[in-house]
Amino acid sequence: MEPVIGIDLGTTYSAVATVENGRPFVIPNRQGSRLTPSVVGFTALGDRVVGERAQMLGDEAPDRVAPATKRYIGKRWTTELATAAKAVVPYSLIQGPSGEVRIKLAGRTMPLTQVSAMLLGELKLDAEAHFGRSVSRCVITVPANFDDGQRQATREAARIAGLEVLRIVNEPTAAAIAYGLVNSVRGRVLVFDLGGGTFDVSILEMENGVFEVKATGGDPQLGGDDFDACIVQWLVAQVPDLYREAVLKDRVSMQRLRYAAERAKRTLSDQPEAFLSATELGDHSEGNDGRFCQLDTALTRDFFETLAEPLSKRCLEVVRRTLGEAKLEPENIEAVMLVGGMTRVPLVRKLVQEFFSRPAVSGLNPDEAVALGAAVHAAELANRAGATTLIDVATHSLSVGVLGGTVRKLIPRNTAVPSSSKEVFLPNRAGQTTARIPVFQGESEWADECTKLGEVVLGDLTVERRADVPIEVTFELSNEGTLSVRAVDTTTGIAEAIRIDARTTLQPQEVDKLVQEQADYASRQAEKDKALVLKQFPRVLDKAERLVRILETSAEENPSPEADAVVGQVKTLLTQGRIAVKLSDTTQMAEVTRLLESFLALA
Ligand code: AMP
Repeated sequence: MEPVIGIDLGTTYSAVATVENGRPFVIPNRQGSRLTPSVVGFTALGDRVVGERAQMLGDEAPDRVAPATKRYIGKRWTTELATAAKAVVPYSLIQGPSGEVRIKLAGRTMPLTQVSAMLLGELKLDAEAHFGRSVSRCVITVPANFDDGQRQATREAARIAGLEVLRIVNEPTAAAIAYGLVNSVRGRVLVFDLGGGTFDVSILEMENGVFEVKATGGDPQLGGDDFDACIVQWLVAQVPDLYREAVLKDRVSMQRLRYAAERAKRTLSDQPEAFLSATELGDHSEGNDGRFCQLDTALTRDFFETLAEPLSKRCLEVVRRTLGEAKLEPENIEAVMLVGGMTRVPLVRKLVQEFFSRPAVSGLNPDEAVALGAAVHAAELANRAGATTLIDVATHSLSVGVLGGTVRKLIPRNTAVPSSSKEVFLPNRAGQTTARIPVFQGESEWADECTKLGEVVLGDLTVERRADVPIEVTFELSNEGTLSVRAVDTTTGIAEAIRIDARTTLQPQEVDKLVQEQADYASRQAEKDKALVLKQFPRVLDKAERLVRILETSAEENPSPEADAVVGQVKTLLTQGRIAVKLSDTTQMAEVTRLLESFLALA
């Protein structure tokens, strides 16, 4: 059966995992790392680079790479969004034809779903290199507070990447599955997920394979990047006066400072002090005077904690609020699970420990838990095993706009999904033959403080009876958090599905073109990967031969039926490997390599 994978498409790092012999594990990328930086870029020659290579390119040419694009996926372009992005990312956000966000990168304009598809495509290639065969079925995770548009966009990115999404799962739920498996935790748990760009808190009940989300909360604008930004501010204050203004305006310089800050923050997770160095700071635009400055400084962990204090307070406020919504106190939580690279920061661990009067559960890398849980759930769905059930909740209230600028909530936040709700409205049509019913998402009572998702437009209404045509509106929220809305004129039975304007999906022709482009790129890469396997596999066989000799010697010294069996198994693999070489069968080579690795780990 074709393997299935779980993908954590993170803001800063992504990971792909699978389940083999009942055990979930992270598939290393083709460079050997378990995490892949969520960065894409184009070299000066126009070649696509993704992951580590893109991150390295970003060190030299920050204007050729796009990090952290997940912050903007599935959103509508607005001037405010584009202006706010200027302070955080080195690329410009521009408006696409359906109101979607596109980025300008190295002379190209790309929809954000294409950027995510490039990342997903790379993870797919990593999984394919691991299995030696094609992989398309997957579970992809998204932050719990992703709205309908962001979930739809993630699906679109997966489609461009040639992936079949079995289900979109919320990141904290996936992490709880993985932690639950490792620690056999039961009862009420809180997932504290602080990633690169977002902060999510989820409270779940875990009992006999049922993972029921009770409440979710979060701050979509709070993450590791903000911690980096406070180090950057401190660095800017140290730039000599003569250069400061130029540095603040210069994207390349600001990106250099951001990289230096992020590295220092990581160092401070293990060391009490970090040294920072950033060179060529100044005006990089054409026609500048060529004068740059350099910054060398040191940051202690204590001082970083002082700088980050307002951000840590914001984290705790979100935790308090979410506990409050679930009507719980910290002592009602059985276990706290840490997720996201930022939870490696000692300050964050300290905050959690003090707040809950107990340390968080351990046993997993916080940046791998989501991918592992996604893989476990993907395997479940593929095998239709039915051992676990996920019950998620609506992460935003969904409402209909009514007279007086207020909204009527049809599905309140934290309602278990799938959920459906209907209500009859009498829209004021002022004698028109069409009625428009606006649909909103958000927590406020006031329509202008919520996000408008779109309008139900019902036409062909009878004009004679002016206002009082009862229209029944039905909201259906799927178990993945995607919304469909229907409206029926109850007098005539005319029905209309909603046009959700906030959905910024691309035109089908453009998607088809991007699918083709990605497929062409992937098949060229797969050919290269195959050639590499054919070149490197003889070395794997050499290792296997050495392993057979070691195992034979040890079986002679300590004879046992088990030792003989292991020798037999490795010899069989060796034979299979030799046949694979004769047939140039790279699928078999991948299989032999994987199985040999498990013996090498034992040896
Ligand atoms: P994620 O979105 O889960 O990949 O988290 C990425 C965030 O975690 C980024 O802001 C990273 O800088 C941060 N991060 C990753 N590893 C560490 C570490 N060892 N110490 C401090 N921060 C880290």
